[in-house]
Amino acid sequence: MRFNFLEDFLALVFPQTCSGCKTSLYAFEFQLCRKCEASLPITSYHLRPKENDLTVKLLGLTKADRVLAFLRFSKNGLSQKLLHQLKYKNKPQLGVVLGKLYGQKLIQAEFDVNWDFIIAVPLHPAKLRRRGYNQSAKFAMGISAALAVPVHEGLQRTKFTQTQTKKSRMERWENVKNVFHFGGKELEGKYVLLVDDVMTTGATLAACANALLAAGVKKVDLAVIAAGTV
Ligand SMILES: [Zn+2]
Repeated sequence: MRFNFLEDFLALVFPQTCSGCKTSLYAFEFQLCRKCEASLPITSYHLRPKENDLTVKLLGLTKADRVLAFLRFSKNGLSQKLLHQLKYKNKPQLGVVLGKLYGQKLIQAEFDVNWDFIIAVPLHPAKLRRRGYNQSAKFAMGISAALAVPVHEGLQRTKFTQTQTKKSRMERWENVKNVFHFGGKELEGKYVLLVDDVMTTGATLAACANALLAAGVKKVDLAVIAAGTV
């Protein structure tokens, strides 16, 4: 039995609720209840990491090696709810929990996780100030904790881009292709996992991957929290 008066008191006054279904969480549950955790729509991209519908999206945009997504995105589904909580409801720890779950999943699947660094797609500093955290960096931290691979934070976002949601595939690419930059030589010859929250057209991830490859990264893999038809 736990005897942590402050924690128990806070849990009584401000009960933690599940990010998926809003039920109260037990002390051993973090961000997600057991039921929601068990019903996460986990994808099988890690079984075909070099040839799947995400790698097809990136053809002609970048030379990423393996492309992965933890969850299948579906409108009004659990993955959309979780992404909404993570991005707009001040739930940075949810990103860490999802990253840990994904890292554990990759280990269980005996996926080859020999990356030198994990790097998150950076937010523009103005957006970072507004939100208070970078949701993709939280996901990166969770994966890092599960796999014991360090996070690297040198990738820069140089321009503020308008929202991408109403743009065509080509317009999105023009909008982001030169937005990211990595200065310095410490990634030369390294193997990097680049992570983001979602993949829609893949333009943002491809632009980031290209900035890393231009900085001398040997190989870059991509992983997102969720991907699918948006
Ligand atoms: Zn739940």
